[in-house]
Amino acid sequence: MNSSKKRVVILGGGTAGWIAANLMATHWGDKGFEISLVESPDIGIIGVGEGSTPPLKGFMDTIGVSESEWMPECNATYKVGITFKDWSVKPGFTQYVHPFLCQPDHFSVPAFFHNSFLRRKGLDLEGHPDHFFLTTEMIKQKLAPVAPPNFPFEINYGYHFDSGLLGQFLARHAAKKGVQYISATVSEVVLDQQGNIAYLLTGEGQRIEGDLFVDASGFKGQLIQQALKEPFISFAESLFNDSAVVFATDADEDIAPHTVSTALKYGWAWRIPLTNRVGNGYVYSSRFVDDDQAETEFRAHLGLLDSDVAARRLKFKVGRVQHHWVKNCLAVGLSQGFIEPLEATALDMVQETVVRFIEAYNQGDSDAGRNAFNTRISARFDAVRDYIVCHYRISSRADTDYWLANGSNEKISPSLRAILMSWMAGQNITDELERQKLDAYFPNVSWNCLLAGKGIYPTREQLKPGNEMANQYKLEDIRRYIQGCAMNFKPHMQQLQALGKTS
Ligand SMILES: Cc1cc2nc3c(=O)[nH]c(=O)nc-3n(C[C@H](O)[C@H](O)[C@H](O)COP(=O)(O)OP(=O)(O)OC[C@H]3O[C@@H](n4cnc5c(N)ncnc54)[C@H](O)[C@@H]3O)c2cc1C
Repeated sequence: MNSSKKRVVILGGGTAGWIAANLMATHWGDKGFEISLVESPDIGIIGVGEGSTPPLKGFMDTIGVSESEWMPECNATYKVGITFKDWSVKPGFTQYVHPFLCQPDHFSVPAFFHNSFLRRKGLDLEGHPDHFFLTTEMIKQKLAPVAPPNFPFEINYGYHFDSGLLGQFLARHAAKKGVQYISATVSEVVLDQQGNIAYLLTGEGQRIEGDLFVDASGFKGQLIQQALKEPFISFAESLFNDSAVVFATDADEDIAPHTVSTALKYGWAWRIPLTNRVGNGYVYSSRFVDDDQAETEFRAHLGLLDSDVAARRLKFKVGRVQHHWVKNCLAVGLSQGFIEPLEATALDMVQETVVRFIEAYNQGDSDAGRNAFNTRISARFDAVRDYIVCHYRISSRADTDYWLANGSNEKISPSLRAILMSWMAGQNITDELERQKLDAYFPNVSWNCLLAGKGIYPTREQLKPGNEMANQYKLEDIRRYIQGCAMNFKPHMQQLQALGKTS
């Protein structure tokens, strides 16, 4: 091995390990870094995590992969947002879409903010978000979010994909970029006198030495949590879910480009459409329901009570490590922490962690650089946690102890409390989000959709008719504008077929 090279050793070949390998090889491959990835042939990957947010497109662009290369290989579909069903029992607000904001929305969002703001002040204006976003129309018409070249606006979107196939695709791509693959199970992590990781020892006695180690070993955090003993901060007091049961069902014939999240008695169920199947999972809290009862409820929800289709059960812990970069180790993926998958934010967190780490490392390894990096990534975790916690805290469901406990949970962060108080007081929450510098994580549109979509407004009896000034935006004009924009997009199925293989 050439000793002038910096040796980066990634432990773990799940999606996190392969995203890290590809980004590091892209940024550092020609800069004297030698990157290897160690994966156990015996310890599997978690094998869930099939929905993304828009930054995954930026990741694929960065590593030089086009949609026609990766999407057909991973049975992928497009995703323009998440439809939330049955999270609220308020009439007119039992369902809404959390959209990925697109440029055309900038013309209609002011109307949403205006109406929503005045509705909180007691005027009877349309405040449901679904009337104001192009993505809602794309879901309704099952359109693909890929704009034709002459369409002058940018469209933001994410994807759904088979996580196992995505990992395999990224492994092949990393190999082309020079990443070395080692199939072995690490049995021991050996530290040097300064407490840095010196080498990994495999079950066969092979020493794997490195200058920098990336822990992508999954929930157990073999390097960061076990060897380096970095403390884990649990989020369990504000996020109760710790279990999931997962099923695949037959593919949809005509695929709508959204994830559906339906609230059930003790949690919520995802529905993620791929080209060859639909991925379904029920995320629930074992404090309130046992695994068998949860599986029965979920089977009933899917109409599978009489079916012998096999389910997979999973346990997870929510929270994060205190620091993500410790000594000569960076933690990414489940080893650094996990917020339950309601907004499919985990892969985005992996990407953000690796990109910011590369930036910081390129500046030279200093205490100030490390501290700034760790503070930034932890702040992102905490901000995402609060957005997820908000879904539960404002839910109006009261059908089980689970929903009652969520709705009255006082163990929420001061930051979330301030946002909720600002909304309830009828203030402009954009100011509060800017004051707290939170707009970079979930944009103010997302917060407004969450609160408005779940119907956090005065009751119908409390509302007064809007006057002419209040009614300055005509819903009919907005509808026509959105439908006009939608005419530029092809059917989702047609776009998927144009990319190549659909099952
Ligand atoms: C129920 C659920 C739903 C989710 N849904 C989403 C979603 O919709 N969107 C999203 O972005 N994320 C989601 N996630 C998170 C997502 O699954 C993970 O972030 C992602 O899969 C990355 O996992 P990982 O690579 O960190 O860990 P894993 O997939 O667990 O990979 C760990 C790797 O480490 C290796 N390894 C472990 N120990 C050793 C050892 N001793 N020696 C050698 N190798 C070792 C294993 O072989 C494996 O390759 C979800 C998670 C859960 C639990």
